Amino acid sequence: MKKLLLALFAAVTGLLSTMAVRTTRYSVPQIALPSTSASLAPLPIDTAGAATRLAGAIRFPTVSMASGAPIDTAAFNDLRGYLEQNFPLVHSTLAREIVGGLSLLYTWQGSDTSLPPVVLMGHMDVVPVPEPNLKQWEHTPFSGDVADGFVWGRGTLDDKSTVLSILESIETLLKAGHKPKRTIYLTFGHDEEVGGRYGARLMVDHLVAKGVKPVLVLDEGGFMGSGLMPGLEQRTAIVGIAEKGYVSLKLTSRASGGHSSMPGPRTAIGALSRALAALEANPFPYKLEGPTLGMVESIAPYLPYVQRMMIANLWMTRPLVSQSLAANPLGAALQHTTTSPTMLSGGIKDNVLPPEATAVVNFRIISGETIASVRERVTRVIADTLIDVALLDSVGVDPSPVSSTSSPAYQLIASTIRSMVPGEVPPVIPYLVMGGTDAKFWGPHSDKVFRFLPIPLGDGDRDRVHGVNERVAVRDYLSAVGFFVQLIRGTDTM
Ligand SMILES: [Zn+2]
Repeated sequence: MKKLLLALFAAVTGLLSTMAVRTTRYSVPQIALPSTSASLAPLPIDTAGAATRLAGAIRFPTVSMASGAPIDTAAFNDLRGYLEQNFPLVHSTLAREIVGGLSLLYTWQGSDTSLPPVVLMGHMDVVPVPEPNLKQWEHTPFSGDVADGFVWGRGTLDDKSTVLSILESIETLLKAGHKPKRTIYLTFGHDEEVGGRYGARLMVDHLVAKGVKPVLVLDEGGFMGSGLMPGLEQRTAIVGIAEKGYVSLKLTSRASGGHSSMPGPRTAIGALSRALAALEANPFPYKLEGPTLGMVESIAPYLPYVQRMMIANLWMTRPLVSQSLAANPLGAALQHTTTSPTMLSGGIKDNVLPPEATAVVNFRIISGETIASVRERVTRVIADTLIDVALLDSVGVDPSPVSSTSSPAYQLIASTIRSMVPGEVPPVIPYLVMGGTDAKFWGPHSDKVFRFLPIPLGDGDRDRVHGVNERVAVRDYLSAVGFFVQLIRGTDTM
């Protein structure tokens, strides 16, 4: 008995020390990133002018209507004229093309055209402001007021701040006589908020047709903020390295219709309901791998000891970590293809059995799966040959490739983020983007695509995106300008 206890004690001690040793490996900060861009002294930025120029751009109501209502093309044309006036060096140095009627594609020719170019993306359209919310806005949505240290209005975070800070940074660089080694393309879409099909898609197609193979593509997506997960207190930057795929499937259930007084063994609505219930009862499997595994491992060094130990020992704890992450909808969505029934219809009268009932189910597809594999699994789970499973329309997109965090592009972005806010070195964490951005159009062509909005967000700012009282602190906007100045200079040394 005593021998057995001793053996058990030894085994437990051995296990604990193995776990502790592995945990120690995660205690050291991440490998120091090369600070190519950080080593360049910042350029002076026209502080007051930058805020005023952003504010001016906010006043053009470049709204994308989700309802499909026609857009106010005059607002986009006026904004284009405004940009010409306010960024004279950009417009006298860079070539500009108008794509898809309203989107803007700029080319800043590099001195060495043999080097792969860089693409910086942003979008000029904004989401509408619902009428009932108007009263809640402290400054009207298109006021472009500069007050209390903020620029106010729709688009100050999403995403005119990106467009304007890129132009502001290039104007600053041109003033300083900078000429990039690599060609830099700027693509500013006009319909990102409604799918980007006529703006970003055409611009990507145009560049791909020209043979452009970028070394770095940067679009909105990730951000810098606090309280991103329990245990991670400090402000953290998350950089999107992949984007989930998207597809909606239309399920059409058929049965013989007729009078409701004599239903047959199968009704269209009953069969459709069983199908939906089966899909919810059989969620897509959870996988703690790919970009989400990378995210968890990158966060580990910053977590309290016990959480760190769990992540350091995934060989043993993986199911537990995966399960606890999946306990909330965000952690779950990061680990599997989500299933969301979003539309349902069938029947026109209370006493008539409809011959057909339909449902639409939206899926956000995890890396490693495809539209085809999702459709195949749905058909299998439903297991009803009288239910047709079809693509709803042509908006489906497969998951993007996963961009490498050891690529020079990621290293440059990460080191530039780390030098963004004086006196603050935030953890930089790669992650899987759940919503779609214009960057999705690069998916089939490039695995050098990253997603990050370089504005340090304060508490509550995330709710202002697409919400009420969208605003950006002038100080934070200037960080974005500084970020692009350093990033662009950094591409020379990449
Ligand atoms: Zn956006």
